Amino acid sequence: MTSETIHDARLDAVRSQIAHAARIAGRQPEDIMLVAVSKTRDADEIAPLIAAGQRLFGENRVQEAQAKWPALKAATPDLSLHLVGQLQSNKAEDAVALFDAIHSVDRPSLVAALAKAMDSQGRRPDCFIQVNIGDEPQKGGCPITDLPALLAQAQAAGLPIIGLMAVPPADTEAAPYFALLAKLARRHGLAGLSMGMSDDLETAIMLGATHVRVGTALFGARNG
Ligand SMILES: *Cc1c(COP(=O)(O)O)cnc(C)c1O
Repeated sequence: MTSETIHDARLDAVRSQIAHAARIAGRQPEDIMLVAVSKTRDADEIAPLIAAGQRLFGENRVQEAQAKWPALKAATPDLSLHLVGQLQSNKAEDAVALFDAIHSVDRPSLVAALAKAMDSQGRRPDCFIQVNIGDEPQKGGCPITDLPALLAQAQAAGLPIIGLMAVPPADTEAAPYFALLAKLARRHGLAGLSMGMSDDLETAIMLGATHVRVGTALFGARNG
């Protein structure tokens, strides 16, 4: 098989999984956005997915995205690019300039930096507040107890907060964490839920995910 055919087959398989989970949950498949996470993949690996019709991609580092995406976007203007990885405040200007959505807003200093960048650029990418849903010290995301205050600060600063995002603890059942994130989003009247990756996207969709972030299932295993 050519690399193009492999990518087509992987994209079809992931789309079928999304449609299957949506059907079980009584949801419309088109209400679930597939974010193809292309971190560590070069333009030659990304191009076949664009050719197969995928338009929404995710990256986890600003610098890596700046190196890859301007050329790809110039060739295909209707691409959308989402930042799914941790963001340093000193990269907020670059992130606001390049990305169409930011999934990793998680602390007051970053809210302030993003608000300043959005005001100066007149560009307001959609934002998700990332929650440290498993209370893991090494992980990004705001503590659950800080969510109300961070959300209020972000909304007062003019950030368009459309939902919550989380990465549950590894090697454990993800469903309770997805359910908890969905409950928090409902409590705060937020419609967006960025949750679910290659191994658990169907569970996430059944629990309300609106954005699934999928890398390995679309691109194959990463080399590091
Ligand atoms: C890499 C990454 C993903 C995709 O993970 P896969 O298991 O390869 O599907 C999703 N979300 C975030 C934040 C990531 O860094």
